[in-house]
Amino acid sequence: AKALSEKLKALNGQAKAKTVVVIGGGLSGLACGKYLSDAGHKAVVLEARDVLGGKVSAWQDEDGDWIETGLHIFFGAYPNMMNLFSELEIEDRLQWKRHQMTFAMQELPGEFTTFEFPGWPAPLNMAAAILLNQRMLSPVEKLQTGPPLLPMLIEGQSFIDAQDESSVTEFCRKYGMPERIIEEVFIPMAKALDFIDPDKLSMTVVLTAMNRFINETDGSQTAFLDGNQPDRLCKPMKEHIEARGGEVRLGAIVEEIVLETNETTAVRHLRLRGGEILQADEYVSALPVDVFKRLIPAAWSTMPFFRQLDNLEGIPVINIHLWFDRKLKNIDALCFSRSPLLSVYADMSTCCKEYHDSERSMLELVFAPCAAIAGSSVNWIAKSDEEIVEATMKELERLFPTEIGENLPDGARLRKSRVVKVPRSVYAAVPGRNKFRPSQATPISNFTLAGDWTSQKFLGSMEGAVLAGKLAAQVVAEGAIGKAHQVKTVPDFIQEEPAKAPVGL
Ligand code: FAD
Repeated sequence: AKALSEKLKALNGQAKAKTVVVIGGGLSGLACGKYLSDAGHKAVVLEARDVLGGKVSAWQDEDGDWIETGLHIFFGAYPNMMNLFSELEIEDRLQWKRHQMTFAMQELPGEFTTFEFPGWPAPLNMAAAILLNQRMLSPVEKLQTGPPLLPMLIEGQSFIDAQDESSVTEFCRKYGMPERIIEEVFIPMAKALDFIDPDKLSMTVVLTAMNRFINETDGSQTAFLDGNQPDRLCKPMKEHIEARGGEVRLGAIVEEIVLETNETTAVRHLRLRGGEILQADEYVSALPVDVFKRLIPAAWSTMPFFRQLDNLEGIPVINIHLWFDRKLKNIDALCFSRSPLLSVYADMSTCCKEYHDSERSMLELVFAPCAAIAGSSVNWIAKSDEEIVEATMKELERLFPTEIGENLPDGARLRKSRVVKVPRSVYAAVPGRNKFRPSQATPISNFTLAGDWTSQKFLGSMEGAVLAGKLAAQVVAEGAIGKAHQVKTVPDFIQEEPAKAPVGL
């Protein structure tokens, strides 16, 4: 991560400065703008909404409470993100938690178990965490977990990439992983990593995360930002860009990518809502995949590079905030709920400095999976906020049986709630889709792609978004000194056959 940053800085002054318009002010667009500025170019970041951050955006309600698009956790295994914090000199804003993983006990409502990582180097710390946990897995199950993961440890990334054709469940059954481990470990992991169940999630996603957690001493350690992301992370990036002659504009909605008329298919300018025309030397899209697909100009839509995107789409996610009238069980960590409707959650009144409240809890929870998918007819994303909160409260009665419940005379009462629905969030990492993720370099001479869904090794995550933005900046900055980047080859069948139907999540 650091080496790429240095490489980009070293390009500053080597070529005539270009004006580069970056569409989208999420983490990827802002990171792209930041690294373009470091390389000596003028970045103009356009964000459609009146707040920066996209999927990490947040805003205050009438009471001054922060509403977040998503509960966000940083991992030690996020090298580009950590490097960015250090470059912006804001490392002190990360609140690192004790190195452990906390799971609710399925059979023992109200009880939790933790995997404690001692301060030993990887992979010993993870081995110790698994061996020392007595409550979740039996000694036999612990032994059975090892062999299915051996090929990953021996063959590394090539084995991991090849598993994209299998779902987590298919992989586990093929390699003889006990059913209980799928239930206990892989369901929560799948729901936390991509908000879908393991029979839908590509095994590559889980193995990628596990590989980093096994090989990096602090890889699975978690941190919370000390406050809302627009102020605490996006603002320093914006200031960095502006201090180097760039711009970050809010309320700038790109409606059309207009091409040159001379058959080159290069971009001539962008048309913004309201009619403004914006011309630049280079253009970068850091839009979510579903939005970008709608903006693809007709002349590009038959090109295999862009047609492959028909196979990618975002997944629906719901983020819930619940404010209680008292403090619940005090857990200063991310918790895997292991309940059917919920993924991970945290008591933000304990975990996050800005949201701190010593008297009353605020739980932030990710509701997943929430689309109508095979085997489940409930399309939660279409339900009302009241129905979603009611269903969540029922799940919480199991997680906090002595503290939450209508029939408990001294039970905690809900003061208020807020539900944020993202109908198309991170791209659906269902089996067989990884090969359709495009490179940042495109076949268009003055157009580059960014966004967490583009090809990079960190999946759809904050780290993936930052890395993709940085790689897009590299394509543009090195292009300015005459170095071309390879456009990822599109799978052969795309060249001949119509694209497959979308996954329909
Ligand atoms: P986005 O954040 O989607 O940014 C795209 C931007 O483009 C948006 O700001 C949007 O408003 C803007 N835009 C759209 N249309 C236009 C237009 N026409 N003109 C101009 N701008 C436009 N990741 C983790 O690493 N850890 C976590 O714990 C985690 N938890 C998550 C929880 C939830 C509920 C969700 C939804 C996501 C979570 N993620 C997590 C994933 C992470 O948030 C994303 O991977 C990352 O923020 C994506 O950044 P991005 O810049 O690629 O896309």
